[in-house]
Amino acid sequence: MLDHAAAPASATRTAAGDALAPNYHPLDVVLHAGKGSWVTDVHGRRYLDCLAGYSALNFGHRHPALVAAAKAQLDTLTLTSRAFDHDLLGPFAVALTELTGTEMMLPMNTGAEAVETAIKAARKWGYEVKGVPDGRASIVVADGAFHGRTTTIVSASTDPETRDHFGPYTPGFRVVPFGDADAAAAAVDETTVAVLVEPVQGESGVLIPPADYLPRLRALCDDAGALLVLDEVQSGLGRTGTTLAQDLAGVRADLTTLGKALGGGILPVSAVVGRREVLGVLTPGTHGSTFGGNPLACAVGLAVVDLLAPGDLQARARALGAELTARVDALVAEGLLAGARTVGLWAGLDVAPALGLTGRAASERLAARGVLTKDTHGSTLRLAPPLTITAEDLDLALDTLADVLREAAGRPA
Ligand SMILES: *Cc1c(COP(=O)(O)O)cnc(C)c1O
Repeated sequence: MLDHAAAPASATRTAAGDALAPNYHPLDVVLHAGKGSWVTDVHGRRYLDCLAGYSALNFGHRHPALVAAAKAQLDTLTLTSRAFDHDLLGPFAVALTELTGTEMMLPMNTGAEAVETAIKAARKWGYEVKGVPDGRASIVVADGAFHGRTTTIVSASTDPETRDHFGPYTPGFRVVPFGDADAAAAAVDETTVAVLVEPVQGESGVLIPPADYLPRLRALCDDAGALLVLDEVQSGLGRTGTTLAQDLAGVRADLTTLGKALGGGILPVSAVVGRREVLGVLTPGTHGSTFGGNPLACAVGLAVVDLLAPGDLQARARALGAELTARVDALVAEGLLAGARTVGLWAGLDVAPALGLTGRAASERLAARGVLTKDTHGSTLRLAPPLTITAEDLDLALDTLADVLREAAGRPA
């Protein structure tokens, strides 16, 4: 009995949604176009994008250099499969390893695939180099981690939504509290091939471990002859004000996973970078991907590396991040936020319980005022604007946030 002519956008959307699996609960906006930090919906309303594709859009929407690289490659060569080499794969490998101070890279597509690749490489290294009895490799992971959605990765997850009813689970993971190096040490034994953590837990709400956490995990892995594997799919490539989040701790992992921003907001590009001794165990035929390292991905990935190589965007994330920190700390002091965690241009904000505002409701009110962000885990909001955002636009986003929180607290500005 739907009157389609009179149906509001939300009704049209619900009708269309019947054909779409319900594995997401997006905000009620239907986007049509984007440029830089701004997106426009189908009604012509403009929004400031302060989620930036969970850091997949670190350079904003349609960055000119990235679009130009993609367009040029579309007119040249887009896919070869790894059955044949192409002329951008070598240069991308060299550029990405130079940018990250690593020896070797293995290209994949999505973040989850990069993590799967790291798990496989660590296990194979464990059996062939460390000498762990076959089938017994263990990997120590952190509580609350997010590493993707494959069946093996959700086997390592402690989040019920992520994990429940997807078993039987892949064995071989030991979960310890995040940020607790002693707990990690207690879980490591002679079967342990790797300790796998995010340097900053993104999906859990930008949880930042103690400053000595990564250095202590590094020392622990060195002592135990295990690999330190850092998942930087979200934290890497400028977000924290450094090329990699691990740079803040002065640590180099044996394997680091990259994704999201590596595709420049244009297409999925991921990679594992790390030590030759480890990635070198993946000999021909033991691992691969039809699309991994394709010419279009390499063209965009190379352009991403070119954007990050001078270090200006990292410096910008630090400078704008200092402003972000000062402003959200003021909201904590005002009692509007119960907590705020910031690193670089990245913030996890806990809405004060007294406001009676869920993270979802807060992101809906922000969207109604033209600022897009997304809640994570109850009352937490995540801010991760493009690293290219202007100081004025960042101010606008934070002014809007303050207005929404003050209004919920019953003290309109
Ligand atoms: C997003 C994310 C992934 C998964 O990436 P996909 O491209 O969605 O598969 C893995 N690890 C971390 C830390 C992430 O934030």
